[in-house]
Amino acid sequence: MDRREFHRRLLGAAGTWALPRLPWQGVTPRVDGARITQHLAALGEFGKNPQGGVSRVAYTEADRQGRDAVLGWMREADLSVGIDAAGNLVGHRPGRDSTLKPLLLGSHVDSVPEGGNYDGDVGSLSAIEVARTLATSNTQLRHPLEVLIFQNEEGGTIGSHAIGTGLTTAELDRVSQSGKTIRDGIRFLGGDPDKIGSVRRARGDIAAYLELHIEQGGVLDDAKIPIGVVLGIVGIRHWDVTVEGFANHAGTTPMNRRRDALLVAARCIDIVNRQVRSVPGRQVGTVGRIRVEPGAYNVIPGRVVFGLELRDLEEAKIRELFQAIRGECLRISREGGTTISFQESLTIAPALTDPAIRRSIAAAARGLNLKTLALPSGAGHDAQEIARIAPVGMIFIPSVGGISHSPKEFSRPQDIENGANVLLRTLLALDKT
Ligand SMILES: [Zn+2]
Repeated sequence: MDRREFHRRLLGAAGTWALPRLPWQGVTPRVDGARITQHLAALGEFGKNPQGGVSRVAYTEADRQGRDAVLGWMREADLSVGIDAAGNLVGHRPGRDSTLKPLLLGSHVDSVPEGGNYDGDVGSLSAIEVARTLATSNTQLRHPLEVLIFQNEEGGTIGSHAIGTGLTTAELDRVSQSGKTIRDGIRFLGGDPDKIGSVRRARGDIAAYLELHIEQGGVLDDAKIPIGVVLGIVGIRHWDVTVEGFANHAGTTPMNRRRDALLVAARCIDIVNRQVRSVPGRQVGTVGRIRVEPGAYNVIPGRVVFGLELRDLEEAKIRELFQAIRGECLRISREGGTTISFQESLTIAPALTDPAIRRSIAAAARGLNLKTLALPSGAGHDAQEIARIAPVGMIFIPSVGGISHSPKEFSRPQDIENGANVLLRTLLALDKT
């Protein structure tokens, strides 16, 4: 007998009498949006810069102080807190059934240099507020709950990578934006790089992971839709494209005798834009860097290396676009009397969110009368690392004007509160499954 059936029979027996209040009839608790806003402002004091944003780069003093404040708020939320070997902040709340795998909420509080007050912070402080709401409403989940504040997201999702994939010695030795190696940075934050392997988790260790984040693009703000259901985090591929022509005197070489590597590169760059736009979808393609040799007013460019980037949720689409671009560029290069080669330099596979969790997020938003839009994430997130080992879901809220990684980054308090309530309701729904 399901609840509705139970309810109906009870009604039948009781006639029009008031029903006794059963536990499942309780009103869903709500987060305290004002507290999230206060904590955002307080966190924004650490690494605050004159432009109004923050420079709270991972492994700096500002990062460490900001994390200390966050740890305090985690304790106030009745979480038992600690720092794992990777330097992530971890808060636990026990569930009714300790044999169940934990449900995870998380994000990050480090920033890019001269970043804003919302990227990562909104999701982190909302996750803590959700835990606090569970505590104050005496809501005990079936699953254990973990709130994770991952270290160094902006420098390559380091803390979450340690959990989802593991960090290699080479990765630990890499120098981060702070000037410290990742290894020294982890020590600086209270982790233990010698035990880094202990934080790694296997498939099946995590029931589900949820992350609330600002969109960092302008899709939701333009459409005036308060909640984004993230389809996945796009895959990224980079190529170094080298065009070899012939460097010669710019004054004495006639126009029809040139093998101008930059001219060919320019035509190829145009082709990248045309090809990416020629098919429907949300794929993006960019040439964002270029090096011209020898690089003089009076010398025809002999060699050009440019960086090609393609992003999409579907690996196959990236592959097809690349083949089309490559084919066109080979033709252009032949016509220009040059040679062209493509060297792949980065491959990040797309990380899709879990379809059932997407439905839960949409249902949670509907329960709050909030419209939703399904969209991909063009930016990287900690969720992509956890997606390698567990079902994940991501909730986006609007970024005003689509601005992010800037002191001008802004999300409205009401949108943040809505996002946090959707996060809470999605968590409660996942706890039942
Ligand atoms: Zn972020």
